[in-house]
Amino acid sequence: MISTEELAGRLETTRHRIAEAAVAAGRQPGDVVLLGVTKTHPPELARAAVQLGLVDLAENRVQELTAKRTEVPGARWHLVGRLQRNKVKDIVGTQTLVHSVDRRSLVDALSARAERDGVVQRLLVQVNVGEDPAKGGCRFTETEDLVAYARARPNLAVEGLMTILPLPPEGADPIEEARPRFAALREQRDAVRARFPEVVHLSMGMSADLEAAVAEGATMVRVGTALFGPRGDGPWRKDAA
Ligand SMILES: *Cc1c(COP(=O)(O)O)cnc(C)c1O
Repeated sequence: MISTEELAGRLETTRHRIAEAAVAAGRQPGDVVLLGVTKTHPPELARAAVQLGLVDLAENRVQELTAKRTEVPGARWHLVGRLQRNKVKDIVGTQTLVHSVDRRSLVDALSARAERDGVVQRLLVQVNVGEDPAKGGCRFTETEDLVAYARARPNLAVEGLMTILPLPPEGADPIEEARPRFAALREQRDAVRARFPEVVHLSMGMSADLEAAVAEGATMVRVGTALFGPRGDGPWRKDAA
């Protein structure tokens, strides 16, 4: 695990990258929320992040998020990995923003649970912009239909779109590869927003390509390695610690 001093330095560097990219694009740095992706890292590191002012934290597995939630007071949690219907009960009611809603069956499950619990579940619709079979996300052309399907539910709030890009080809510049795809998601968001004004967020960009994402309008960037260093072998688990 990296030291708090190193984390502070990496956080400053990352915020600087975001600010430079925002200013270059004529945007306000404050319009981009930095999410710290803490998967595989221990809660101590997540707590240090919160103490340094990085309160938006993301996990890609429900179990790991659940385990860390009680260990990291003051964090705002985001689920950025695939959500199975049988785990919906562990997410609804925990104030977690779900970035990965990509199919009607998941909308149904979230809506049913949120209605039962009397809460509103906030979510983003994940779009498979790169049409990568290994990545989640609805098809690009299905985006508006899925947004419409979800927002018709009174217990769901669709706040934007999210994408995870395919890995760039060996030797390619990740920024160059990513930029047209991020632009495509922004155009899709603009089209959807014209019909549904509450669909504002664009969750896109990671350690290697956040500049491209900010240039194309990202409102949330999800950064793991650049902040917390290389990841461990598997998910952090309370019982294994
Ligand atoms: C792990 C992960 C990230 C962070 O990736 P880095 O390259 O380490 O910044 C971002 N988004 C999702 C969905 C992830 O699973």
